[in-house]
Amino acid sequence: MSTSTPCPLLINGEWLRPAALATSPVFNPSTGEVIGAVPLAGAAEVDAAVQAAHAAFPAWAETPVVDRTRIMFRYRTLVEKHFDEIARTISREHGKTYAESRGDLFRGIEAIEYACGAPTLMMGDMVTNIARSVDCETTRYPLGVCVGITPFNFPAMIPLWMFPLALVTGNTFVLKPSERVPFTALRLAELLIEAGLPKGVFNLVQGGKPAVDALLTHPLVKAVSFVGSTPIARYIHQTGTAHGKRVQANGGAKNYVFVLPDSDVNKTVEGIMNAAFGCAGERCMAGSSVITVGNRGRHLMGELATAAKALKVGRTDGEAQPDMGALITAAHRDRVLGLVESGLSAGAKLVADGRGVKVPDAPKGFYLGATIVEDVQPGMALAREEVFGPVLNVLHLDHLEDAIALANQSAYGNGAAIFTNSGKAAREFKHRVQCGMIGINIGVPASLAMFPFSGWNDSFFGDLHIQGKESVWFYTQQKVTTTRWIAEGVGDVWRK
Ligand code: NAD
Repeated sequence: MSTSTPCPLLINGEWLRPAALATSPVFNPSTGEVIGAVPLAGAAEVDAAVQAAHAAFPAWAETPVVDRTRIMFRYRTLVEKHFDEIARTISREHGKTYAESRGDLFRGIEAIEYACGAPTLMMGDMVTNIARSVDCETTRYPLGVCVGITPFNFPAMIPLWMFPLALVTGNTFVLKPSERVPFTALRLAELLIEAGLPKGVFNLVQGGKPAVDALLTHPLVKAVSFVGSTPIARYIHQTGTAHGKRVQANGGAKNYVFVLPDSDVNKTVEGIMNAAFGCAGERCMAGSSVITVGNRGRHLMGELATAAKALKVGRTDGEAQPDMGALITAAHRDRVLGLVESGLSAGAKLVADGRGVKVPDAPKGFYLGATIVEDVQPGMALAREEVFGPVLNVLHLDHLEDAIALANQSAYGNGAAIFTNSGKAAREFKHRVQCGMIGINIGVPASLAMFPFSGWNDSFFGDLHIQGKESVWFYTQQKVTTTRWIAEGVGDVWRK
């Protein structure tokens, strides 16, 4: 990829490079260099993409589900064939390590595999003889043009949460990926065409707010799937539903990890380190706030500090791989630093300091080392806001009840985890904590493709979540048919 790497739009099966469009730079976070320019589509390009998807819909919806699914099987094979190349593209434009990029894509492949179950997933229900000689059944139908708007942090997995399932259920699709990571989506789109998808069934527009607004208000769009930060998720839900669309909108998060005195120390430290610093904390399921309960909490701090200081930070765009890569942009890194400073000036205590981290072969990369801050009080911005960086807050409390009450004050509700050997404590925690994805001795309880990605509160706006059966319901509408056949006219041929 170079600054001249083309980043076309895909509209009606054609790769277009509208010369007049403004562009936005795409960075390699590892070095801070510009590696491309993404065209910023506007209302005209969005209209062309939606019109193409609308025109392709009738024939695609009539294509037997097994044939639609067969294309998805071919797509899965192609994505796997190009696994390494796509993972390297993710690392280059996002900054996460090669292993993390492989994980990102692997989770995406699982979503494709789930979509390959469409002939079964589309099945309806039936009750025979619901009244005398009357049968009743439900059948599922696609909606029409569906839209996906995705964030930067999982460039492969999150688009793949959306379009494979939308397509196999008979919808056509327009994807608008994050303008910060356009090249992964581009490659995923190229392979979809190679898999044999008819033209117009899948379209790709790149861009920012103007493209999103044109999609949200377009009269031919039936449904919008969104993943991103909470203020934008709320806006997408309000605007999309006001324009008559079905909307599922995943927002940001603040996920608590509870540590009880009886937990296994090594497993707990390992779990916390992964939860807090995996993908440099740029995960909506990052376990960024630890609450230790009881008297052992402060002893853990030494182990956590040692583990954090040992994490190697560096470039992810080459062969040698560090433990942790850069953040997405310099501006985002500076925002995270600002939150750390605000916590420290409000009285929090630094346990591991990643602020001065040096990467000698890439001095302009957007780096921040693993940082741990102790005694973060609930009122601090560091405790309330989503940080989305390699920063772990720790707070010590005496009782589980107080810890649960504190976590439940959060505006968000994506996930929470507990490390304990007590079934009773785990059960209480699971029952009382107000969020949608629970980990018991698992630090990042992000659900797999067959389960809903089940955020609560300000982590989700809508009714039907992304992934699993709920997403099948989101992308389809049901018809209920009630049938009675009367023998009149046929005579008694069916009876002796
Ligand atoms: P973002 O909200 O800035 O951007 C997401 C998408 O919205 C992008 O495609 C972007 O172009 C578009 N967008 C941005 N500003 C807009 C505006 N004003 N109007 C219309 N559209 C706009 O999010 P991000 O920084 O790319 O991603 C990080 C956020 O996503 C974090 O808050 C993270 O928690 C969240 N996230 C949530 C989940 C989940 O499942 N709950 C998963 C991954 C990421």
